[in-house]
Amino acid sequence: MRVVILGGGFAGLSAARALQKRRKSVRDLEIVLVDRNNYMLFTPLLPEAASGSVEVRHITQPFRPQLEHVTCELGEVLGVDETQRHVTLRHPLTHESKTIRYDELVFALGSKPSTMGVDGVERFTIPLRTVADAQHLRNAVIGAVEIAAQANNIGERDRLLRFAIVGGGFTGVETAGEMSAFLRRLIRYYPTLHERHVRVVLIQAEKRLLPHLPDRFGKHAARVLADRGVEIRIGKEVDRVDSAGITLKGGERHETRTIVWAAGNEPAPFVKRLGLKLSHHGAIETQTDFSIEGHPHLWAIGDCAAVPRKNGGTYAPLAQFAVREGPLLARNVLARLRKKRTKPFTYEKLGQMASLGDRQALAELPGGKMLTGLPAWLLWRGYYLSRLPSASRKTRVAIDWTLGMVYGPSMARIDPSSTQVRYANRSTQGDTEAQDDTVDAAAR
Ligand SMILES: Cc1cc2nc3c(=O)[nH]c(=O)nc-3n(C[C@H](O)[C@H](O)[C@H](O)COP(=O)(O)OP(=O)(O)OC[C@H]3O[C@@H](n4cnc5c(N)ncnc54)[C@H](O)[C@@H]3O)c2cc1C
Repeated sequence: MRVVILGGGFAGLSAARALQKRRKSVRDLEIVLVDRNNYMLFTPLLPEAASGSVEVRHITQPFRPQLEHVTCELGEVLGVDETQRHVTLRHPLTHESKTIRYDELVFALGSKPSTMGVDGVERFTIPLRTVADAQHLRNAVIGAVEIAAQANNIGERDRLLRFAIVGGGFTGVETAGEMSAFLRRLIRYYPTLHERHVRVVLIQAEKRLLPHLPDRFGKHAARVLADRGVEIRIGKEVDRVDSAGITLKGGERHETRTIVWAAGNEPAPFVKRLGLKLSHHGAIETQTDFSIEGHPHLWAIGDCAAVPRKNGGTYAPLAQFAVREGPLLARNVLARLRKKRTKPFTYEKLGQMASLGDRQALAELPGGKMLTGLPAWLLWRGYYLSRLPSASRKTRVAIDWTLGMVYGPSMARIDPSSTQVRYANRSTQGDTEAQDDTVDAAAR
């Protein structure tokens, strides 16, 4: 029997680990995990990775050391053939395609940032979803400050030092908090610049920040960020984005070259092509046990699934649900293989937290109480440290945080494509190019 899991994020990795633990309960069980990366990314710490509070590699968990009894396939999922029961993959390095057979298939492909149909978003904004996005944002921010430090024209300097973040949910608020704190530290090292030259703008289409939490949480976040100089534009929708800035509906314009887009997610494009029944958010509609009605060997969990709640609605696309869905999915798939009854998923969240950067956070405690400031920030860090998927990641992140508190975050702008020094070529022209590169790299 072969169970194939597509996607090794919070949901897929927890399902694979749970299946691995129970693998002896079904004879000849083979578990396969497919992902385009060979690691799981701990997304809640991406804003901290972008600001340099943690090293980006430390928030990734390579699959293989954790999944000794699972076959890990590096591959981009291209298609599923339900009649033949096989999945088509393309290797991201060799680009070779292959098919793998399944008996039971689990979709755990997560979601991707949505442009919400706004012009220019794909081309001119930075999402925060992957390791590359965090590095890109970090380089863009430090790069803008470096250029601004030498700008002769005040208009150009101000444009470089204006940073816009679109979306007032968790990702947008946490990014605004981290970025404003990081910029305050960074700017001190540039004698030609001053803190008052920097402007961070947070644009939120809804009526308040953190709309998934009670009203007072959004108000508190807005107060903390505003005290730090973040301009908050509430109830403002983006009309279009271009290379020089962002225009809001009604004509308000912000000239900037760094725009973070955190205005919503949608399921991975591959999910749309499956021909399964989708919710109005585009996620695969499942039954309460994660199975898909009318498709006896298919299951879905995590952000790409719309799992019904007992009292109506579906579970929100959050890691805290995804990570708890995995183990029950494993139990239900094995129950199905053993012709036993499956169980429905029920989980009520204990609370939610958001970091606001600079040792500030807010946390919703059981009973709806609100914790703020340093105690909430310590709780936030303690909780996420405990949720990192292995002892090695916990240790590395704890060390990053401790060193960051003593020395501050790293301010190096490391762009792999520009720091590469090529080996000298025998030809005269090659020698000259190689020497130029070496001089360039030394000068940096
Ligand atoms: C910046 C940020 C901060 C967040 N903070 C929080 C938080 O504080 N608390 C919280 O509860 N949630 C938070 N979330 C939401 C959380 O990340 C998601 O709910 C969670 O990741 C969902 O888990 P998943 O397994 O469904 O998807 P993911 O974790 O996204 O995993 C999907 C996996 O599928 C793989 N994949 C996708 N398509 C393909 C394909 N075609 N082929 C091969 N592989 C593919 C991806 O590489 C990925 O590994 C945050 C999200 C972001 C972006």
